[in-house]
Amino acid sequence: MRPLRLLALAAVVWALAVQAAPVPAGRTGQVVSVSERDFAAARLGRLGLDALMEKDGRVYLVVSADECAELARRGVPFADETQRLALAAVERVGAGGGVNGAFHSPYEMETDLRLLEEAHPDLARLSEIGRSLEGRPLYALKISDNATVDEHEPAVLFAGCHHAREWISVEVPFLFGKYLLERYASDATVRALVDASEIWIVPIANPDGLQYTIDVYRYWRKNRRANVDGTYGVDINRNYGYAWGFDDQGSSPHPGSDVYRGTAAFSEPETAAVRDLVQAHDIRAMISFHSFGQDILYAWGFTSEPAPSDAELGAIGRTMAGLIEAVNGTVYVPGQASRALYVTNGDLIDWAYSLAGAPSYTIELPPVDIDHGGFFNDETAIAAVFEENRPAMLYLVRYAIDHPLLRRPLSPVRRERSVLSQTRKPKLVLRQP
Ligand SMILES: [Zn+2]
Repeated sequence: MRPLRLLALAAVVWALAVQAAPVPAGRTGQVVSVSERDFAAARLGRLGLDALMEKDGRVYLVVSADECAELARRGVPFADETQRLALAAVERVGAGGGVNGAFHSPYEMETDLRLLEEAHPDLARLSEIGRSLEGRPLYALKISDNATVDEHEPAVLFAGCHHAREWISVEVPFLFGKYLLERYASDATVRALVDASEIWIVPIANPDGLQYTIDVYRYWRKNRRANVDGTYGVDINRNYGYAWGFDDQGSSPHPGSDVYRGTAAFSEPETAAVRDLVQAHDIRAMISFHSFGQDILYAWGFTSEPAPSDAELGAIGRTMAGLIEAVNGTVYVPGQASRALYVTNGDLIDWAYSLAGAPSYTIELPPVDIDHGGFFNDETAIAAVFEENRPAMLYLVRYAIDHPLLRRPLSPVRRERSVLSQTRKPKLVLRQP
């Protein structure tokens, strides 16, 4: 479901991004749905609830027990969707052992990355590019011929898990690295790409948040920054340094919000680590994986104005969509981020693109919507999701090898003044992938 086709709530719902209620520790989310009409009539947007998406005239919310009681107090009819959605998801996850099943925890990822490096010492080098707030290593796996040598080859970055609850986004970049290493000896196409490039895999940009989704709260999104007002978390995909804080629709100044941008651009060690990695190498393309929605998004996110390379970004996006669809028939829709979903500022792809025009994409992995699992991918589908993305990832590496960048940073932009006093219609902000 494409959120922008459903704009009935636009005037009230923008506040969802502005202030989200703190999540009580120790509970898993309860998902309820309310009708759009009731949502608007009861002005629920002002409560700052964690809205996952809108579909078929209903708004889906993750609520605490207190928030649930508040809905009842206001006389808002709601349907408890937890049984139908979340519990079904719990049944799907877990066969691989532990709460997170076949999905990686940060520690499990560390182990598997080390095993890959040990098995392919000439082709893989694991480096710690920083530490999270809670002290977890942030890992990048470099894959290239002579991986331990800096050969100044064109580089491509594949990143996952900026958002903690988007578990499938960890697995796709990891499996791509594994695929390249295991196929190098036997597959001429893989060998040619690896020989001519550096491929950087950062499967978990937000390990603290990921651990928190495993231990405490499955719907957690942000990192685990202790904010001054007692809330937790910065949305690290609103913390990058291009058009950071441009307006209060594309990110929030309120620490409790699920899209809180932090106190300054790159205030978070997780984003600073990715920044330093990108700036130290000749990154010519990247994909930042997220879920859910089946979208291929490109700059600009902060404005609906097209990016200078709009035609090229769109053409690459459409090519990747075609390659993906050819595998399993799954449709991913390419489009400019701000137009396809909603405005975002301070995200990775706007910043990466702004440096020197590198084609940079956010790919929203399956499913297409919450009725097909939302953030809870079936662990048995991990392989299929990777397989359908693999040709697009290989294509983007080839593209990066063949195409030099603009080599000229785009002009910085400043925060829009008096944005809140402007009369333009606020944009609908519902799902926050
Ligand atoms: Zn996301």
